[in-house]
This record gives sequence, structure tokens and C-alpha cells, in this order.
Amino acid sequence: MASEAEVAASAKIIDGKMVAKEIRDEITTEVSRMKDAIGVVPGEDSAETEVLKFISDFNDDPAVHGILVQLPLPKHMNEQNILNAVSIEKDVDGFHPLNIGRLAMRGREPSFVPCTPKGCIELLHRYGFQIKGKKAVVIGRSNIVGMPAALLLQREDATVTIVHSRTQNPEQIVKEADIVISAVGQPDMVRGTWLKPGAVVIDVGINPVEDATCPRGYRLVGDVCYEEARKVVSAITPVPGGVGPMTIAMLLSNTLSSAKRIHNFQ
Ligand code: NAP
Repeated sequence: MASEAEVAASAKIIDGKMVAKEIRDEITTEVSRMKDAIGVVPGEDSAETEVLKFISDFNDDPAVHGILVQLPLPKHMNEQNILNAVSIEKDVDGFHPLNIGRLAMRGREPSFVPCTPKGCIELLHRYGFQIKGKKAVVIGRSNIVGMPAALLLQREDATVTIVHSRTQNPEQIVKEADIVISAVGQPDMVRGTWLKPGAVVIDVGINPVEDATCPRGYRLVGDVCYEEARKVVSAITPVPGGVGPMTIAMLLSNTLSSAKRIHNFQ
């Protein structure tokens, strides 16, 4: 019988990347064959005009209380045209420029606030962390997370700094923050040494990192090095199990608000 060492030495490496490429090549061949034979290409191949028509119908249908556009869109569609077509009254994602504009303006109320940043603020509220007068740093300035998170913190009277990919000395800036919201997409980028003792950290990042001990071969980590950070800060969201579930909860909350508004239900 082979020894353990011999078995280990001869063990096959199961290369998922290679197998996936083989499968994609097989699919390409089959798709060409199908197209040549019956003129059909499988998949969703809607024209932008068709999507706009669907959105228009949903806008007019009182039984539809919220409309979500799954991003990114295929390359042949104009993201701006599609997002702008969603009625502001049903924009439960809160991405419509009018909603973002209202979020940015003093004295204006957006119909909906984007779900992930709204979830971050809701966590701060529900845990009783004061925002007013605090120094807050948002890492990332995307339209869907970083930018609206910064606007929300400002509305709550925090003094807000935004750190992005061109920011110099980000660690020095982050170190001043009482509240850090990170939405970057870089695993463990924010080290414990970047954080002010006692700060509150909301980690939006969801980043897969290889881990052979996990059944899927990877695990999810945040932008903030959790093990280092938790020794320094007063509170931190884990990844997974922090902001992610809040995003879904806020989407439900926005859809409920929309339904109440449409049906004039207090
Ligand atoms: P994104 O559109 O790629 O934006 C990333 C932002 O991070 C950009 O503003 C970029 O700066 C900045 N950035 C990149 N590298 C940086 C660096 N080294 N230092 C400082 N800033 C840097 O990403 P996103 O859609 O906002 O998502 C960010 C993360 O949040 C991802 O991990 C995503 O999976 C996660 N996410 C989680 C949820 C949830 O429900 N928990 C929801 C949405 C997203 P520039 O603007 O200069 O390029």
C-alpha cells in the first residue's frame, strides 16, 4: 500500500480555472452550432429600447412598488439612460440622480436613500453611536456606496473626509477618524495601525481571498484587517455578517416605504 507521503506526492491538483475554460470553449462551439442551425443565440439579448419599455410599464403599474436595475449592465446599454428611466417614486435603490441630488442638498429629502450606505448609518443609530460633531472618514467614493455614505454622514452633522485611490497618506487621515466607513474592495487594506483607538468601524468591503481550508477554496474578508482592528477600535462590523445583511434589510425597508406612499397608507 502506498504511504501517505507517496499519496500526497502523486495527488492531482484540481484546476477549476482550466476546467472552467474548457467548459466555456465547449459552450462557444455549441452556441455557434445553434446559431447556424436555427438562428437562436441563448441568453438575454434585450435591446436598450426593450428594457426602457419594461421600466416604463413598471413605472405606471401601481402593483409594482420598487424597481431595481441590476448593475453592471451589458456593454450595449447605457447605464445612465436606464437608471434615469426609473421613476423617482420607485427608485428603491436610491440611485436616481434626483434622489442623489436631493441627498446632497440641504433642506431637501430624497424619496429613497441608497441601501448600503443607509444600512451603515442605521447600524450607527441602532447601536447608539453619536455621529453629530464626530470626525468621519469614508474610504471609497463610488456612486453606490462611498459618495452617498459621505453625504449621509454630513447630513448627520459629522465632519467628513473622503479617501480615494489618489489620496496621499490615507493612513494618517483615517487615524484621525472617530467613525470609519470603508467601501474600497481591497482585502485587509486598513490595518490596525491606521485606526484611532476607540473608533467605530463600518466595513462595507466584501473581498474573496484564497483559503484552501474553506470548502469553496476561498473566504470573504472586509477592507479592514479585522483581527488587528478589533484590538484597537471600540466597535467594528464583521465580514460577512455586518453590512451585507443590512443592505437587504434596507432594500425591504425602502420597498415598504414606497408601497405605503403609493397606497397612501400611514
Ligand atoms: P468601487 O465602485 O470599485 O469603488 C471603490 C472605491 O474605492 C473607489 O472610489 C476607489 O477610488 C477607492 N479605492 C480603490 N483603491 C483604493 C485604495 N488603495 N485606497 C483608497 N481608496 C481606494 O466599489 P464599490 O461598489 O463602492 O464597493 C466597494 C466594496 O464594497 C467592494 O468590496 C464591494 O464588494 C463592497 N460592497 C458591499 C456591499 C454590501 O452590501 N456589504 C454593497 C456594495 C458593495 P477612485 O474613485 O479613486 O477609483
